[in-house]
Amino acid sequence: MSTAQATAPAFDSQGKLGNEERVEEAMHGFVREFGVTAALHMESCVRCGMCAEACHFYLATGEAKYTPVYKLEPFRKAYKREMGPFAPIYRLLNLASKVTIEELENWQELIYDSCTMCGRCTMVCPMGIDIAELVKEARHGMFRAGLIPERLALMDRTAKAWSSPATPAEDLPDIVEEIAEEHGVEIPCDLEKADYLVTVAPAELGDHTKALADAAKIMNKLGLSWTMHQEGFDASNIGFIDGDTDLQERLTRNIIDTAIKIGAHTVILPECGHAYGAARWEAARWYGHQLPVRIIHMTEFLAEVIGRGDLKVKPIGETGTFHDPCQMVRRGGLEAAPRIVMKALGIDLHELKDTGNLGFCCGGGGGVVSNQRATPLRYKVFEMKMRQVDDTGAKRFITSCGQCRITLDMGAKHFNWDKRPESLLEMVADNLAD
Ligand code: SF4
Ligand code: SF4
Repeated sequence: MSTAQATAPAFDSQGKLGNEERVEEAMHGFVREFGVTAALHMESCVRCGMCAEACHFYLATGEAKYTPVYKLEPFRKAYKREMGPFAPIYRLLNLASKVTIEELENWQELIYDSCTMCGRCTMVCPMGIDIAELVKEARHGMFRAGLIPERLALMDRTAKAWSSPATPAEDLPDIVEEIAEEHGVEIPCDLEKADYLVTVAPAELGDHTKALADAAKIMNKLGLSWTMHQEGFDASNIGFIDGDTDLQERLTRNIIDTAIKIGAHTVILPECGHAYGAARWEAARWYGHQLPVRIIHMTEFLAEVIGRGDLKVKPIGETGTFHDPCQMVRRGGLEAAPRIVMKALGIDLHELKDTGNLGFCCGGGGGVVSNQRATPLRYKVFEMKMRQVDDTGAKRFITSCGQCRITLDMGAKHFNWDKRPESLLEMVADNLAD
């Protein structure tokens, strides 16, 4: 592993490949991703610049290199040279030069540190170019080349060994028992049969244990048959984030195969946006057919049980504003669910200026929050969110993604802000009616 000094572009590398081999691996990875959709996207950009005005990293810094379209430059170069309709001519006349190792090294910061794959640029692009998806596909090539941020590589290695970047799978029963004892709630683990498999994000086994205990409190109050299970418990899926598609598949299969094994009809995902992207929207690609189990986000589940009248909550009667997690709302389509829950809680919702599908990212998605060297950039983005929240005049600041909560919490502490992001799940559990 090497980390460049402050004056040089920030990049890390893994493994022992030489520079040429890294470029080859990256190109193979990129070429593998150039399906019809990616090719159409590559061909249809009209350079209108609208995506720039959508990206929080560009808006917070004003730096041209952070415009979404610039972030795709090496990918586009690879496409033109290797796969585009005029690729042989481009190669013959050297009209599109070969991607170099320096370009890939510089690129690492652009697609890992300054892109959260939030999809806000995708929403505004008049040509329908899914830049967030292209960045995700570009990461697949970068992973193959051993050119990802070391923090993510470390989490990847840990998840390969433990099935989770947080804890070895076999330790789960003991950890769950401790959390159950600490919060005075029953948390079933490793049951052979259950209707619901409840999963977590790493923070719920560490800093956010109350969220897990509160999920248990709600499941128990509803009288449902449920369990956690060491064979499939961590839904956060680092492979989805860092570009390691083999690991992504393995982590997804852990959850779904475990649900099938115990006869669960539903997997409940934690308050985690990327878990929703990986397990809800990408899982079927590993199975090749419709999944035999239902996969829902915790917020979706709460909206359903509250909407049906199965779960009753007491009104809080305070003003609040809501941060829409990108992978859950913009990329995942769950804009209404948190608002149904907040309405039931009697929250007088003061929406942010940019909200719902057009809400700004917390700045930490796509692994950025785990990537220490991106911290200064993340704080610049956080300031935009902080201003928008203050402008609402709302008392409570609510979200339904643990990773967003961590990112926003770090920003709040850094700026000595008088607000802290709160979990919608915890708010429901704290206000259950008899
Ligand atoms: S908004 Fe779309 S068409 Fe316009 S520059 Fe960005 S990617 Fe290209
Ligand atoms: S996906 Fe989000 S972070 Fe990435 S370029 Fe687009 S707007 Fe910026």
